[in-house]
Amino acid sequence: APAPPPAQHLFSDPAEIEALRGNLLAWYDKCKRDLPWRTLAATEPDADRRAYAVWVSEIMLQQTQVATVIDYYNRWMQKWPTPQALAQASLEEVNELWAGLGYYSRGKRLQEAARKVVSELAGQMPRTAEDLQKLLPGVGRYTAGAIASISYGQATGVVDGNVIRVLCRLRCIGADSSSPAVIERLWDMANALVDRSRPGDFNQALMELGATVCVPKAPLCGECPVKQHCRARRRVEKELVFASQKLFGKPASVPDVEDCGVGGCPLCPPAAEPWDSSLGVTNFPRKAAKKQPRAARTATCVLERRGCHGAPEYLIVQRPSSGLLAGLWEFPSLPLAQGLQEEKQREVLADHLRAWTGRPVVAGGLRFIGEVVHIFSHIHQTYVVYSLPLDGDVTLDPALSPSRWVTEKEFHASAVSTAMKKV
Ligand code: SF4
Repeated sequence: APAPPPAQHLFSDPAEIEALRGNLLAWYDKCKRDLPWRTLAATEPDADRRAYAVWVSEIMLQQTQVATVIDYYNRWMQKWPTPQALAQASLEEVNELWAGLGYYSRGKRLQEAARKVVSELAGQMPRTAEDLQKLLPGVGRYTAGAIASISYGQATGVVDGNVIRVLCRLRCIGADSSSPAVIERLWDMANALVDRSRPGDFNQALMELGATVCVPKAPLCGECPVKQHCRARRRVEKELVFASQKLFGKPASVPDVEDCGVGGCPLCPPAAEPWDSSLGVTNFPRKAAKKQPRAARTATCVLERRGCHGAPEYLIVQRPSSGLLAGLWEFPSLPLAQGLQEEKQREVLADHLRAWTGRPVVAGGLRFIGEVVHIFSHIHQTYVVYSLPLDGDVTLDPALSPSRWVTEKEFHASAVSTAMKKV
């Protein structure tokens, strides 16, 4: 077994743990935000419904801001208040409601998992974090811990981005916080800290602290309910005392700016990037440099015709059922090879469009509209947008993937991605 981490990076005093729990929960009771999933978790008497309500919120909140999620969440729960209701929805309906939330596979997987609950688990949600993670596709360690602690009161911790930040600051953890070894330590710490009688509230309080007080850039340490337990803050204060003593010419002892004092400590900042006084508590957490998103270009064409009432209609086609933006609708689009000349772009796009319209398309007839950039998590995507008005009736080939003509209003109500709405 690996050696235990140096004491500086641990919570080893039971009295301190008790005090931290009490301070954090008292603050949470006073300051917590009113959120629809919190209300449901607190008032719903049925354990399965409660777990489902928390589950939906946790999946929606992955990678998405609370303020954005609220409206989607309310609509979702109104439409599908139980796993049974969700299991009966079509993927099309799920994608339509999800449109705009991003990371579309989350909605799809949520629905697949709800179907599994209904068909294989007799409609009952798994009752522990371990089973939730094992039995429900798309439910990872964090989501399982959140559902189990909030809906069932299981005393299990959670580690998400907010918790990572708070714990790294509380215990001066400056090693790469995305490394598996550090993450494992943080899970141990979260499990040790979680309040035994109010685990769900404790976990939410820790996350809320990270979201509202111990924020990434300018944390509000003065208002922090756990500041007396925070070693990053203590270090900053020591440096301040030292600086003021020096300023007033008092004989000052050199501040204890050593890391934890253990050479080669796996949790301290790496020797090559030591503590930087100008950063204060935001020295923590540290992350290895992120990979740059890959650049990609896609040609897309807005095909327009006059509908039966004279209103313009646009052709949208469905993307394949796997991969990026699976199953969503878009204007006919074609990924472009890097460095393709504009003339060549038009030609390949015209060729591609012929397949949809069933008639030759002249490359010169495509009107260039402009470029639209959309950043996915790992792709810097540029859409090169063209338009083409069509005369007469255009029959779509049913052998091709699904496609349909829609008015502008129908377009916005369809399961189209945010990137396509920008186009
Ligand atoms: Fe975060 Fe500051 Fe509180 Fe420490 S004192 S936990 S750095 S807000």
